[in-house]
Amino acid sequence: MVKGKCPECGADLDLEDPVVREIVECPDCGSELEVVDVKKDKVELKVAEIEGEDWGE
Ligand SMILES: [Zn+2]
Repeated sequence: MVKGKCPECGADLDLEDPVVREIVECPDCGSELEVVDVKKDKVELKVAEIEGEDWGE
């Protein structure tokens, strides 16, 4: 389990097995967040910029 923080609302997120460039949704504010960097016990997130791109759900 890796901890991250939503850059939008500051909520703490627990991610099971994050992968860089994966998109996760903040359970608090519903923002789509992109995994930028995964460290040993911490993950860096930024608000995803999706420009009409199909991520295949
Ligand atoms: Zn949030």
